[in-house]
Amino acid sequence: MIYFDNAATGFPKNASVAKAVSESIDTCGNPGRGGHGYSIRAAETVYECRKKLAAMFGTRPDLVVFTSGTTESLNIAVKGANRSGGVTVVSNLEHNSVMRPLNALRRRGETVVRQFRVDLRDDGATLENFRTVSRGATNVVITHASNVCGRILPVKDLRKNAPDDAIFILDAAQTAGHFGFGITDLGVDAICIPAHKGLYGPMGVGALIINPESDAYFETLIEGGTGTNSKSFDMPEQYPEHLEPGTQNVSGIAGLSAALDGFEYPAGESELFFELVKGLEQIDGITLYGAPRCKADLKFYTPALLFNKRGYDCEELAAKLNENGIAVRAGYHCSPCAHRALGSFESGGVRVSPGRNNSKREVTEFLRVIKTL
Ligand code: PMP
Repeated sequence: MIYFDNAATGFPKNASVAKAVSESIDTCGNPGRGGHGYSIRAAETVYECRKKLAAMFGTRPDLVVFTSGTTESLNIAVKGANRSGGVTVVSNLEHNSVMRPLNALRRRGETVVRQFRVDLRDDGATLENFRTVSRGATNVVITHASNVCGRILPVKDLRKNAPDDAIFILDAAQTAGHFGFGITDLGVDAICIPAHKGLYGPMGVGALIINPESDAYFETLIEGGTGTNSKSFDMPEQYPEHLEPGTQNVSGIAGLSAALDGFEYPAGESELFFELVKGLEQIDGITLYGAPRCKADLKFYTPALLFNKRGYDCEELAAKLNENGIAVRAGYHCSPCAHRALGSFESGGVRVSPGRNNSKREVTEFLRVIKTL
């Protein structure tokens, strides 16, 4: 099987990930819930991973909050930092894990949502569009890169153009693990990441990474036991316990920790991505949406490409590709906003997303199959 669905989850994972998950099941107790060896082993496993993520994203280990994935991280960040009566600004490329929590707040009258248009060809125009709607904003929630077309947003400049006291939350589902970035350098208050995409860890784990220089304080989304301050009915105020009720996904965290050992940012993804773009452009009946136009554009993209083929419904095309041993994802990719922005709202599209484990040969085979359909 040629796996071109890395934007959904990075695959295959290193063998060390499954090994660490399996070992943790046999060796770990409940972290922070006892002084015995099994519990301590679990707590150490969790802390090791916290330290690795803190180093990767430039924060302190206690400001790495483990979650079940980007979706939970975003829900905590969006709802926990919402200021009643405030205004939240988002881009027109957001995923439903941003739009749905915000819509829930909006329905309850707890925020007003304003959207700005990302100009795929001109970051200056994007910033201008942002400035127009962000005046008076209390919160900003932005995808770092679109999961539909791969376009990276100019986050650092958006932050600089946002009101100083606006809480700025970054959805880094599609960028964590693809290239390096630090939270204090970007200047955002929080970054939401998954373990399972660009970091090639297990599904069911993610993190909310908080900026050590930020004044934002995230209220709890759910409450429960933390193994600390047990006599109190209130959640501890300090991170990470404040936002980590209940037993953590120790096995998933162990797997992520293994994935981070010796982690290197991928070198060849971008080239494969460009081969795909160039190859598809030359095939009759193919429509590309929001793709890079030349090599120089690649610095603005993570490897996710949306296309359709004349005469095919996108789901039908993905099914044909699957029959030919190629895994892609068709439909709306939980991002109706992005499809609206890209002009594929009526049709949906096929997303092809190469990753660190793909080869040039696989791209050639993919293009050969598309031509024959
Ligand atoms: N945001 C974006 C941009 C995504 O691509 C995804 C996953 N498709 C999410 C958020 C949600 O991530 P998770 O499934 O890890 O919760």
